This record gives sequence, structure tokens and C-alpha cells, in this order.
Amino acid sequence: MLRTTAWQTPIRRAALWAGSTTPTGADSGRKQPQLQLAPTAVEYDPAAVSVYMHWPYCSRICPYCAFNRTLMDKSVDVARMQRAMVTELGAQLAHIGPGRKISSVYFGGGTPSLAPPGLVKDLLHTLRAYQPDLPSGMEVTLEFNPIQCHGSGGLELLQSFAAAGVTRASLGVQTFNPVHLKTLGRDHTPEQALDALQNARAVFPGRVSLDLMFATPTQTIRDWEEDLQLAVAHADAHISLYHLTLEKGTSFFTRHSRGALALPNDDQAGDMLELASRTLSSHQPRPWHRYEVANFAQPSHESQHNLGYWAGNDYLAIGPGAHGRVTLPPLPAAGTNATSTWRRFATVQQRSTPHWLQSVETRGRGTHREEQQTPVDRLQEVLTMALRTRRGITTRAWDAHCSQLSSHLSAPIPTLAALVCDESEKSLQHSTTQFLRAALDNGAIELDLDGLRVVQLHLLDEIMSWLLLRLEQLLSSGRR
Ligand code: SF4
Repeated sequence: MLRTTAWQTPIRRAALWAGSTTPTGADSGRKQPQLQLAPTAVEYDPAAVSVYMHWPYCSRICPYCAFNRTLMDKSVDVARMQRAMVTELGAQLAHIGPGRKISSVYFGGGTPSLAPPGLVKDLLHTLRAYQPDLPSGMEVTLEFNPIQCHGSGGLELLQSFAAAGVTRASLGVQTFNPVHLKTLGRDHTPEQALDALQNARAVFPGRVSLDLMFATPTQTIRDWEEDLQLAVAHADAHISLYHLTLEKGTSFFTRHSRGALALPNDDQAGDMLELASRTLSSHQPRPWHRYEVANFAQPSHESQHNLGYWAGNDYLAIGPGAHGRVTLPPLPAAGTNATSTWRRFATVQQRSTPHWLQSVETRGRGTHREEQQTPVDRLQEVLTMALRTRRGITTRAWDAHCSQLSSHLSAPIPTLAALVCDESEKSLQHSTTQFLRAALDNGAIELDLDGLRVVQLHLLDEIMSWLLLRLEQLLSSGRR
């Protein structure tokens, strides 16, 4: 299934500041879609932890895909894989220690709908052993391939995953256009996709997400509009949009570098995203709320799992190549009564499935790398993730992250207001301050007591790079 890999903003860059305070570039003068206010439920919570499970097998390999995936042939030992995932989850829960609060589970891949439903059952059983009061309605998402979900057989498959504990389905439709489906190497037809969608809605009412892909080879804005019209007519409560990007090592990448594959350019891709935003948010009678750059939901149907990522909460990574974030409590400092401070680690599991299996079977976990994040890394990640959302970074969340990190730094961590608009004479001479001030004056970003948010999302990449630079400048003198 397709997921976003690098939290890439599928939007064009445009210069906001070029010596003046007037927006310039390809978008100037064009009315930008404004985000609608809608509160989201997930806040930064140091106790919360979600779980990401990676099932690496697919029935075929799509020509654009660079995820950690491999063909599921007869040589795959499913029972061994199932045992290893349960073992790794148990070991990771022991690693973080007791008292954390499991907030959501996400089965991605690969194609996790090829896994046995018993895997879901076993993993949830392990989570219940850790946290006996695990909420019964907790969000447990599994990515489904439409080819497996259409017809009566598909309905049964969805029901068996629901019986195992899945509460939300993410359906990798990508497009309803038969020509583009073929180009993308997908094995389902538009009719099968619609039938799969109907089945999924019957089993998980109000909890089905639809994936669509844009800027695909030869796709025109008209084709995209037709996809969007079918999506709003048939989608359940959540739509995720993915900008096709060329990844090294894929068949699309090779063909493109030989000049044998044409793709819409960045401006055309930007137009497609803007069209999606307009179409979805103005749809009647069911307008869709754009709660993140490329994610749209009906009210109260945002993905809790993704909101956890964007809020900066921890997540465990289970399975080959999975990435995680884990905060560990302070350790007693040797020879004193003092303790060290909180430490947050970026974890990566062994990418190769045989190596991962071997590692789990010999030492319980398949962790390949576990690097402690520096305070600057951590705060930059917090900003990067949170500012993708409509809500942005709240003052409360920023203060909570900063209070965990302040003892690591000798310089004070700037408030959000200081980050955006330090008005000292010296500071105003810097291009970073001038840019951010212009963004504020032009309404591209909003800053108030509740926090900081990007309103003009087509400028997100540029605003982000200036904010990160400014944060680094402010903290660099105080690093320990
Ligand atoms: S189904 Fe296709 S896009 Fe999804 S992980 Fe497998 S190869 Fe990649």
C-alpha cells in the first residue's frame, strides 16, 4: 500500500520574501484555499505511544514504489513472521517500561491485508497484556488492497480482520481511471475499487480512508477532477492524497531518467492539490475538512494515528524497516543522587526481512539503529510535523516539548512568538526575521495565544525552512 514516506509537501515552492513584503511567484494574485477551523483531539502527550507494524510482503511490486516490500511467494514463512512480530512487540513494550498509554495501532506495509487476521489478534492480545484497560474502540487501522476486498470474498476478508480487532480500513484505490491504474501497475479495476469501498464501508462504517494519487504519468487535471468527483461521491469519512514522487531504484525512476516517462511538473502538481482542496472543502452536502496538507476528513473522523505523529507523540516500530520514536525516562546518574534527563530516540528496524527475523529471534528486537535525538533535532521535528496540520503547533505543546529539553541547553529555548518575530534592531537585519515577519504581515502564518499555524499551505516548505533555520540560529549558541 502507498503511504507518505518523507512527509513531503506536495506543493510548489513560491517566494514570499524577495526584498519586499508582497507575495511573489507563480501563485501571486491567486486566491489560496484557506483552511477551516476545526479542533483536533490529539495533543502532545508524553505518556501516549502508538504502534506502527510493518508487513513487508506484496502480491506484486508497483513500478513507482520504494517502500520496504518484497514479493509474497510460497517461500514466505507466514507463521514465523507472525511469531517474530509478536516477539518484537513484547520486547519493545518491555523496553519502554510500564505506565505508557497505547493510543492507536497502524498496520502498514507492504500489503498487510495479505497477513493472516490472526496476526492482528495476537498483537492486540500482547498490547492488552501490557495495558489491560486498552479501549475497545481504539483506532486500529489496516491498509487493504482493493483487489482483496471486492465481492463476497472481499467482504468476508474485511469481516475477519474486523473480528480480529481492526477498527479502521485504509483502502489503496489510487485512481478510478482504468488507464492510470494500469500505468501504476495496480491489479484492480475501477469497478472493483468501488465495490471494495462499499464493502469496507459496510464493515467499518465511518472508519474508512481512501487513498488517491496525483501527478501520475500522463494524468491531466481533467482526469484528476474525475477522480475527485468519484471520491466525494463514494468516500466514507477520510481521504488521503499522495503526490507521486520518483524514487531511486524504482522502475518509474529508471524510465524517467531515460526520457521514457513523462510526469506532470511541480506547478501542475500544485494545481492538482489546490483543485483537490477546493473540490473537497466546497463539496455539498458533505464538505471535507482539510486538517493536514494532504489529508481530508469529515468532522471528528481525522486519523488519530497520524495526528499522534504530527503532535510529536512516541510510536513503536515493529517489523522490517519500520521507523519509530521512543522517549525513555531519566536514568540515575552514576555516583550521585541526581538523575539524567529524558532521552528521545529515533529507531530504525533492520530493513532486510531475513536480517530482521534473525535479530528478533536471537535478541528479541530487530532494531538496527537507535539514535538519541539532539534538542535541535527534536524541536525541528516537532515544528516540521505540527505545522503540516491545520491546528499547527500549540503554545501548550511547544512549552511541554521545551520543558523536557531545557536542561539539555544552556541558551533558553525561544517562545513561538520569539521564533517568529523578534523585533530587536539586530534581529530585523537578518533575512530569516524579515521573511517570517513578512509571512505574518501577509497572513501566510498566524500567531496568537493558542499557537502558530501556517494558513497558506502552498508556502509551507519555504516557511518551514526559514523557521528551522531561525530555530537553529537561536539555539546554536547554547548547545551543550
Ligand atoms: S502494493 Fe504496491 S505501492 Fe503498496 S507497498 Fe506493495 S508494491 Fe508498494
